Amino acid sequence: MIKPTQVDFSNSEVAFAYKSDKELKHAARIFKLMNKKWLVNSGSKLGLTAFKLRLPLLNNVVKSTVFDLFVGGQTLLECQSTIDQLYKFNVQTILDYGAEGNHSEMDFNKTMNEMIRAIEFAHTNKSTPIIVTKITGLGRFGLLESLQNKIPFTSITKLEYRNILKRLDTICYTAHGRDVGVYFDAEETWIQDIIDHLVRVMMKRYNKEKVIVYNTYQMYRKDRLQFLIDSHQLAKKDGYLLGAKIVRGAYMEKERARATKMKYKSPINDSKAATDDLYNTAIKFCAENYKEISFCNATHNAESNMILVDLIQKKGIDPKHPHVSFCQLYGMSDNISFNLANGGYNVAKYVPYGQVEEVMPYLIRRAQENSAVAGEMSREYKQVLGEIKRRGI
Ligand SMILES: Cc1cc2nc3c(=O)[nH]c(=O)nc-3n(C[C@H](O)[C@H](O)[C@H](O)COP(=O)(O)OP(=O)(O)OC[C@H]3O[C@@H](n4cnc5c(N)ncnc54)[C@H](O)[C@@H]3O)c2cc1C
Repeated sequence: MIKPTQVDFSNSEVAFAYKSDKELKHAARIFKLMNKKWLVNSGSKLGLTAFKLRLPLLNNVVKSTVFDLFVGGQTLLECQSTIDQLYKFNVQTILDYGAEGNHSEMDFNKTMNEMIRAIEFAHTNKSTPIIVTKITGLGRFGLLESLQNKIPFTSITKLEYRNILKRLDTICYTAHGRDVGVYFDAEETWIQDIIDHLVRVMMKRYNKEKVIVYNTYQMYRKDRLQFLIDSHQLAKKDGYLLGAKIVRGAYMEKERARATKMKYKSPINDSKAATDDLYNTAIKFCAENYKEISFCNATHNAESNMILVDLIQKKGIDPKHPHVSFCQLYGMSDNISFNLANGGYNVAKYVPYGQVEEVMPYLIRRAQENSAVAGEMSREYKQVLGEIKRRGI
């Protein structure tokens, strides 16, 4: 067993060792631009319009600014140099095909085929153990919503539902055969019950000997800690291993706005402190049961990462145990990922890939996340500047 070491998230030398001076300065320039809220807001609007109108200029502007900072490449092959660079520093890659907003059966089949390609690619790369997928990339949002609301099937929706199941099964069957994991992202509460059901069917089928399929648990929801505990019980009863990616949750404003508009009680915790508390309890629960739950601590929160480091050390868990891992987004929280990897822990980055127009909504979300809160410098910008200062460049 490799002995775990203490980690220091403030070590910027380790955090940015994978970036050359030139890359670091480029990152600083982009983070500086993103720090201007007005620029991000108008840039986002402009970007979406250019994206809708398919303006050719968009490609160049995006490619020379935010794209390389947050995206691995336009194709799987283009991601290879990013994957190799991360792996040099013991950080693995989780492949995330970035296309969003699919509507037709043709789009859904295209996404399924892309997932199969990603699995085959991951199978030949020991640095890419897992791929990510979203059920809304594989089936119609409206259909998932009507299934959750138990609206009776028509002949068309029955066929659509069968197609979703077939797509999921093809992905998970291939992943199982190729020994590649599949993370299913969590989405909005009004389609999440049906997502949970579908992912459970896949876990039951493919998680018998080892964990291939993972569901995602959003701890900003009041009910998810209990749901995680229940999912563990159900897995034990039905004789499969649970795969759990733990996150706080990405749709808070949308969830609250819908609850207010439709006059139901918000499913989201009333405060950040309540979310943090549930999140950290979920991590402790998974660490307590790590032999039966393969889990990923998917967060940029330093305290939640440190809590798991402490648990691994106190419980004497092998830091390289395949059931215990950490994950951050590519281009974000390098101080956490690279210092964890340097300390001997299992760490991966979500590396999105896709054509510029496919990853535009993703890039806009990253830019908004990194824009200034009340005139302050963003966390990422501060860290990049700190390393520039340390290098004296
Ligand atoms: C690898 C990875 C995979 C992810 N996959 C998914 C996914 O499948 N589905 C998904 O929904 N999200 C996903 N996310 C995003 C995640 O849910 C968070 O939105 C994001 O990571 C920020 O949370 P944090 O834990 O990193 O950090 P923090 O900055 O500590 O937490 C911010 C989060 O806390 C919560 N929060 C903030 N304010 C309040 C408040 N007033 N009341 C209650 N809660 C509050 C919100 O969830 C907010 O996003 C993923 C993130 C990562 C890193």
